[in-house]
Amino acid sequence: MQISDFQISQVNKQIQSLRKAGSFYGKKLEEAGISGISTPEDFASLPFSEKNDLREAYPMGLMTAPEEDIVRIHSSSGTTGLPVIIPYTAKDVDDWAIMFARCYETAGITNTDRIQITPGYGLWTAGIGFQSGAEKLGAMVIPMGPGNTDKQLQMMMDMKSTVICATSSYALLLAEEIEKRGFKDKICLKKGVIGSERWGEKMRQRIADELGIELYDIYGLTEIYGPGIGINCKYNTGIHYWDDYIYIEIVDPVTLKPVPDGELGEIVITTLVKEGAPLIRYRTHDLSRIIPGACPCHSRFPRLDIIMGRTDDMIKIKGVNVFPSQIEEILKEFPEVSSEYQIRISHLEGRDTMRLYVETNGTVDFQILSRRIAEKVKSRIGFTPLVKVVELGLLPRSEKKSKRVFDERYE
Ligand code: ZN
Repeated sequence: MQISDFQISQVNKQIQSLRKAGSFYGKKLEEAGISGISTPEDFASLPFSEKNDLREAYPMGLMTAPEEDIVRIHSSSGTTGLPVIIPYTAKDVDDWAIMFARCYETAGITNTDRIQITPGYGLWTAGIGFQSGAEKLGAMVIPMGPGNTDKQLQMMMDMKSTVICATSSYALLLAEEIEKRGFKDKICLKKGVIGSERWGEKMRQRIADELGIELYDIYGLTEIYGPGIGINCKYNTGIHYWDDYIYIEIVDPVTLKPVPDGELGEIVITTLVKEGAPLIRYRTHDLSRIIPGACPCHSRFPRLDIIMGRTDDMIKIKGVNVFPSQIEEILKEFPEVSSEYQIRISHLEGRDTMRLYVETNGTVDFQILSRRIAEKVKSRIGFTPLVKVVELGLLPRSEKKSKRVFDERYE
């Protein structure tokens, strides 16, 4: 998606504030001798930013607006090392609520809905984001926060909640409890707005079926406002994102060159109007693609595909970047194989080989199936794997996420 002239002028303003504030990115620009941009080529020459840059700016090195304009901070949970602190101005807080309200509207939620919010409140951006957006929309908020399933279900019935906001795992837990306790007739839920972890189609179907609701995936990250920068519409053809607040490019995670619309790569986000902590070309390490063309809902907002995984999952084989999710997508097109698979990569006589193990039952010709899968991988990804078809139940299963990729080249 080519950056527009208007977006360039917006980025240029962000650059001026960053330089003036002398924040980490302002210094990067100064080192690179960049004082402003006026063309798409100028934009493409801007340095990227990374989570590590933000960590190094701890605690307040990201602050780009004057102190008296900052009204709030949020923080992303640092699993390793220092957390990241994001300062917000009053306008940032309001912009975020506007974007979030737009998410609810895109999901067909209105000011007559009652929205039960189960994500956490506090330093991170979840609960309060869901709440501000709902208030901006004019809906009624039931601000539960996480946990206490008994109370959640009681309030859900008594308050006649029509919308549930949750992580996919908590939504599933609630769905199972409702089923187990026989409460299904007593709940009024119509829609679920689910935070953007990566979740499988099967889990989605189970939550939707058990609760009898429509599900919407909301996208966002703390570094860029929080959840609410995009959501799917009822046609479920990808996530509409708000390109009047953010510019998204998809880049090859190795070369960092933008890829054409439709191709898989890393999501890189630039804020267009943020004041407290603007970010330029921020690498999310989330994998997705821009979906070309128009959505049947006629929204003017462009679309991202669902998040397909993280760049850290990438495997390089015979010079081609491969993501396990791409293999998964291909296998989904073969109804005769199970959802289990294993990828093994080895280096033999100077060449990389990929063996792909899949399961099926005895009613299928293993040889023909293996050839069909290999051909599809070749046409989609560009190399031919050795496909080994095995009996159903032979691949290992575990309660947690199974390890599916074994790179024996480095063992
Ligand atoms: Zn749409």
